[in-house]
Amino acid sequence: EDEKAKYVKGKKLGEGTYANVYLGHISSSPSSLVAIKKIKVQQQYTEGMAPDAIRELKFLQELSHPNIISLISVFSSKDQNINLVLEFLPMGDLEMLIKDTSGVRYGMADIKAWMGMLSRAVWFCHENFVLHRDIKPNNLLIAADGEVKLADFGLARSFSDPYRLMTSTVITIWYRPPELLFGARQYSGAVDVWSVGLVFAELVIRVPYLQGINEVDQIAKLCMGVGTPTEENWPGVSKLPDYTVPAPPSPVMGIDHYLSMFGTVGQEGVDLLMKMLIMDPRRRITARQVLEHGWWSSDPRATKNEDLPKKG
Ligand code: ADP
Repeated sequence: EDEKAKYVKGKKLGEGTYANVYLGHISSSPSSLVAIKKIKVQQQYTEGMAPDAIRELKFLQELSHPNIISLISVFSSKDQNINLVLEFLPMGDLEMLIKDTSGVRYGMADIKAWMGMLSRAVWFCHENFVLHRDIKPNNLLIAADGEVKLADFGLARSFSDPYRLMTSTVITIWYRPPELLFGARQYSGAVDVWSVGLVFAELVIRVPYLQGINEVDQIAKLCMGVGTPTEENWPGVSKLPDYTVPAPPSPVMGIDHYLSMFGTVGQEGVDLLMKMLIMDPRRRITARQVLEHGWWSSDPRATKNEDLPKKG
């Protein structure tokens, strides 16, 4: 299994939080472009650990879905570095579209299309017992045909924690659910649904909804923007390891608040958003229930991929 020999690595495309990304191609087919993501965790992998991580990643290769970036291969280089060979998607990501407020205009039907693709990706992964844990607009890559593809599924678990110990780069906490902020050790697919809700909110207002500057501030922003998690709205929350909230508690935001801020997606859209942002993870809507929600079938219908806005 000389997977490494099957690919030729080219120029560096970019640097991310835990990897350097290179352009590459299949050795036997120079026109078949790929992205090669070289994970920067060498110090963390003492002798023999990379093979374990690789075994863990191999099953991600089986996860095949139109809205999930495909992991073509995984191999380790001699320096024990882990290399991921990924579908090449050079058209940018959702964060670029959201931020380009002067160049890119979009409306409810476009948001519905992007959210539909994201929701199907998350549902598929949860059906296959894979959590993402780091969903954010810059992890949502756009393919040439307009398809949105969730990147780095299943990787946050393998890499983000060791990486945190060795870097000063801040990992985004704006999309982190309250159960993770409070240090819950056991969690579920609900963590990803929360992040999807915050991507939804951001698509509407075109700025991140809860922008904390550190974990304590993130909890404060969450209390202000969604409500303070308490034993009343989330039985058991005060027993979580890192539970602390600012006093006095803020009430859980009602429909009026969400309608005033996110009303452009309609009553049904606002209803879905509120259910994704339920603080108690056991009561939060599941990825499957998201797909069954009335918003998808209410007017307007989602924009067709070929008509979606693109970066200039
Ligand atoms: P981040 O940590 O910001 O998510 P990544 O490590 O995923 O960044 O990627 C760093 C850069 O490499 C991206 O900004 C993008 O320009 C490029 N890149 C990542 N994945 C791909 C891909 N599959 N196809 C093309 N370019 C990619």
